[in-house]
Amino acid sequence: MKFKIDGLVCAGILLLALFLFHSFGGKKASSKKPKLASAGSSAGMSEGATAGERGFTAAGLPGVNPLDGDGNPTQSLTGLTPDPNAAPEAAVEEENHSAPYGTADLAEDLAEIAAAQKAREIRNVVLPTDNRQIFGKQADSQPNFYMYVDRYIDGVNTRPWTGGKYGYVRTPRKTAIGKVYTRLHEGIDIKPVKRDKSNNPLDDIYALSDGKVVYVNSSSGASNYGKYLVIRHDWPEGPFYTLYAHLASAYVSTGKTVKAGDKVARMGYTGKGLNRERSHLHLELAFMTTDRYNYSYNKNIHRNYSGLNLIGMDVARFLEEYQDNPSLTLREFLDGEEPYFKVHTSSAKKPGILKRHPFLGKNMQNESKVQSWEITFNRAGVPLSFEPIEEDSMSTKVVWVKTVNTNHSYLTSGRLSGSGSKASLTSSGTRFVDLLTEKF
Ligand SMILES: [Zn+2]
Repeated sequence: MKFKIDGLVCAGILLLALFLFHSFGGKKASSKKPKLASAGSSAGMSEGATAGERGFTAAGLPGVNPLDGDGNPTQSLTGLTPDPNAAPEAAVEEENHSAPYGTADLAEDLAEIAAAQKAREIRNVVLPTDNRQIFGKQADSQPNFYMYVDRYIDGVNTRPWTGGKYGYVRTPRKTAIGKVYTRLHEGIDIKPVKRDKSNNPLDDIYALSDGKVVYVNSSSGASNYGKYLVIRHDWPEGPFYTLYAHLASAYVSTGKTVKAGDKVARMGYTGKGLNRERSHLHLELAFMTTDRYNYSYNKNIHRNYSGLNLIGMDVARFLEEYQDNPSLTLREFLDGEEPYFKVHTSSAKKPGILKRHPFLGKNMQNESKVQSWEITFNRAGVPLSFEPIEEDSMSTKVVWVKTVNTNHSYLTSGRLSGSGSKASLTSSGTRFVDLLTEKF
């Protein structure tokens, strides 16, 4: 009898939930986020696998993702639909061990629906190849994701896979604070998962997110990147760029609109310092420094889409955090970066990058009195915020740096000199800030 009543109550709540669900006009994601890592190995994926299966949880593609499904409540309302095959005892057991199905649970579901909708509004993101080992939990999964680099150190040739990661992972140097990696890798190097008999990579490369192909460089010798292409993603926080390098060939031309997961290229090993064995996709997720790069550097044939005009962010951390939180905003993401230095600019002119990305502004209520901009950077030169400052600054200068007991030049790709709590911009550092603030 008790079960029967509970069943009725359950059915009533289910109807209410369905009503609310439909009133909300939404399609709800599964209550459990599928994890890419546990969704099967990339190497074993069939040819017929769809982009959505490669992709992330709530932001996949039509027909694949729960969010974009047909709203079938049996599938959508996981956890609310009674399983007709479940034994009554099991159902009762569950009733007894969990909180009564009440308003709190419904509120939680509604919050989840809202979060999932927000996620869909923000962006779709998928992994750019069939290699999904970035999320693997086994100790050996990341070496299966990142392509090693050749390193000659202390008389020995080594092949550290960590050199394929994002960040300061290259060119180690012994310093007062121990071994410091002095060269920045602004992207990640993703290993192929398919090769032909001659060891050529066969991996297709997919657009990381919806966007537009804005540049295709088809000449291997015209860049250290070899053949590469750039896609612009018009995200709510402004335009961001993904760059795909060392391609064998591009499948798309400039101007093509793409969806997350669309095939855009074939992996290869074009570009400087590569060989067939080290074939990989070099992927960057970047801010554009200035949209007038072409005017200032005339010898640059890639114009705005030169790698020198793109500031690569920690794309691996972005992918990892997006996997756990598809409604991750770029502000939340950048808040996870450690500030390393701050500069004051000598000009009150509002930088183009801040116009394109208003979310980078801080204390913008003071903008009417601006004399100088305080820009906060991380080690990699990624701008984390811009704040209007009322004091005039005669020159572009460092006003704060993280204290370290070694040369700042080792930690900032040579943009800063000095050590300890003192630092100045070097000529390359000044050029970098001038470019960012369009002082040219
Ligand atoms: Zn690379």
